[in-house]
Amino acid sequence: MTFKSLHIIEPILKSLHEEGYTTPTPIQAQAIPVILEGGDLLGSAQTGTGKTAAFAIPIIQLLSAKKAHEKTKKIRCLIITPTRELAVQIGDSFKAYGRHSSLNGTVIYGGVNQGSQTNSLRRGVDILVATPGRLLDLMNQGYISLKDVEIFVLDEADRMLDMGFLVDVKKILHDIPKKRQSLFFSATLPAEIVKLANTILHEPTKVEVKPVETTAEAITQYICFVDKGNKAALLVHMLQDENIRHALVFTRTKHGADVVVKILAKHNISAEAIHGNKTQNARQRALNSFKAQKTRVLVATDIAARGIDVDELEYVFNYEVPNVAETYIHRIGRTGRAGTKGTAFSFCDASEKSYLREIEKLVGRKIPAIEEHPFPLVDNNAKKDTGGRRPPHRQNARPSSKPRNAAPNMNGDNKWKKNKRSKKRREA
Ligand code: AMP
Repeated sequence: MTFKSLHIIEPILKSLHEEGYTTPTPIQAQAIPVILEGGDLLGSAQTGTGKTAAFAIPIIQLLSAKKAHEKTKKIRCLIITPTRELAVQIGDSFKAYGRHSSLNGTVIYGGVNQGSQTNSLRRGVDILVATPGRLLDLMNQGYISLKDVEIFVLDEADRMLDMGFLVDVKKILHDIPKKRQSLFFSATLPAEIVKLANTILHEPTKVEVKPVETTAEAITQYICFVDKGNKAALLVHMLQDENIRHALVFTRTKHGADVVVKILAKHNISAEAIHGNKTQNARQRALNSFKAQKTRVLVATDIAARGIDVDELEYVFNYEVPNVAETYIHRIGRTGRAGTKGTAFSFCDASEKSYLREIEKLVGRKIPAIEEHPFPLVDNNAKKDTGGRRPPHRQNARPSSKPRNAAPNMNGDNKWKKNKRSKKRREA
């Protein structure tokens, strides 16, 4: 199946191609046709299944088809989600897939100054992504009217309830027109969630994707605790072992992938990177060369690695511990396929220990640590990449021009299509 066969319009197909998406994920394949038909949807799917694109793509298409020509823009689509991180992520997705559309959008959430958020609301948006508290706050202050909402999305409903947002959600619903299309997503569907869904949805189509399978027994897994600054040295050290003839290394960012390739090359270890900044041809060449065992190490970001199927791949390295536990399972699942044995090593610095705990919860066991290696963890207070000091490989990168507390307005004038730098900033 392709996105084209789902009747996605050209400007969105172009964005998806630029994102490196080739095939719809199962939730996308099921949800997109329902949403394009104008139906309500009850989606049971976790993060990591591609659920954001499953609703963002058809919403952009529906809103683009009848883009209002009036000067005063009205909020035609509202997405509410429980956390600031999710809101930003959803905003980024809309920005990416809507890059070649003329829609506008913004993201609002609490904990930051409201000034830049209200400025972008004043300029007008078609699509608003919001956390419930700040949304109600700005509604009460008169900055937001929901009376023109045509499509309403409630994301991560179970988390929303866990976080005590039920009353807020009901208040928000009160202000949205009854005649609308509603999409409801939840990782789990306990009785109280189904009850809430029934008050929101009208004859919904239910779409369910199973959570990612837990780790195959065939894969031996190890953790190497190591300081961030020593990860490259540890990788080089481990690759001195000639038994590792062929390895796939995952990095969180495109830039990180390039840095690892350069370091390996300095140590005469043949490596190539595949990620979203490379052309489709360059990616294919690198993959073919890896499959043909001409390149020993392939360094990939998660998105680029989707769909990579390499026979008899024995080793996977997680250069960083993934911050979404399901991603870990996807990554290590590249090895140990079709009855073969595989080994996965994950390099964990102090800041990543909480991610490791989530992974261990998901796989239901403690992953053994390799105690004996030359670069044991020393710095137990390392900061996460996202805060404070930039990680070493980014220290020369151009700093963001955006003040830290600025609203993540999809860009200055709310126009997605003009936002060229944002794509560069997003690391696949
Ligand atoms: P989500 O479940 O929405 O959090 O998405 C998980 C990840 O999958 C995100 O990093 C998306 O960019 C990526 N993704 C979503 N759809 C696709 C697709 N069709 N092909 C490749 N990657 C995708």
